[in-house]
Amino acid sequence: MKYALVTGGSRGLGRAVCLKLSAMGYPVLINYKSNSEAAQETKSLIEEAGGNAELMPFDVSVQSEVEKAVDEWQESHPEDYIAVLVNNAGIRRDNLMIFMQDDDWNSVLNTNLNSFFFLTRRVLKNMLSKRWGRIVNMASLSGIKGLPGQTNYSAAKAALIGATKALAQEVAARKVTVNAVAPGFIATDMTKELPEDELKKMIPVGRFGKPEEVASAVGFLVSDEAAYITGEVISVNGGLYT
Ligand code: NAP
Repeated sequence: MKYALVTGGSRGLGRAVCLKLSAMGYPVLINYKSNSEAAQETKSLIEEAGGNAELMPFDVSVQSEVEKAVDEWQESHPEDYIAVLVNNAGIRRDNLMIFMQDDDWNSVLNTNLNSFFFLTRRVLKNMLSKRWGRIVNMASLSGIKGLPGQTNYSAAKAALIGATKALAQEVAARKVTVNAVAPGFIATDMTKELPEDELKKMIPVGRFGKPEEVASAVGFLVSDEAAYITGEVISVNGGLYT
């Protein structure tokens, strides 16, 4: 059976992506770091809608944890494979560069970028041998435009876009597509402390986006209809500069 793994599936965009992929028929592996209650809520929402989900806690920024979790899951599911991988888990630690601490830089790069390498390399083997896979990376407007106060986050997301385009060309012949979605301002825990009333004046659509509006773009990229789209970045940002 083909499974979908969504990192950071406990809350926010990841939860909406889990629900979308479940509605498309995938059993979903819900990764998260520490918020078991929120992850369990995502699982319950999937089950209430008639889908199947398993919790898969691990820290995406720690290579040994990533590989152990995937290896253990694979051992207990010898007939199945992770056919859809959504690299969504992310954090931000904003500060002007002159004030930025080593840990602000390293934790953002490890969680938003190095996690992509740790997890994708491990999961890719089966996608290539089964000759079908979908990888969607959660980038950001910040990785396209660059945002002041986010040199760490912009660097991680821009690199993720570069990696998306490079990997897409490596694996296209095996029917594995690799794309990115670049949200603008979406209403989640990550943006709840931002001055929404001020910021939405800059957004042509005039509001923050909803997690479901990002999840629908991910769902499209995962669908068979998107088989000829790879190495692409879809912005979901209400018309904000790209
Ligand atoms: P969020 O509400 O803060 O949720 C973050 C999710 O990532 C949670 O599920 C969290 O798990 C998980 N996570 C964080 N660090 C992790 C780690 N080391 N290992 C495993 N899981 C980890 O964030 P969001 O707004 O949904 O953002 C999701 C993605 O979209 C991120 O990559 C973010 O950069 C990107 N994005 C968001 C926006 C926006 O406006 N919201 C815009 C552009 C891009 P726990 O629940 O266990 O903490």
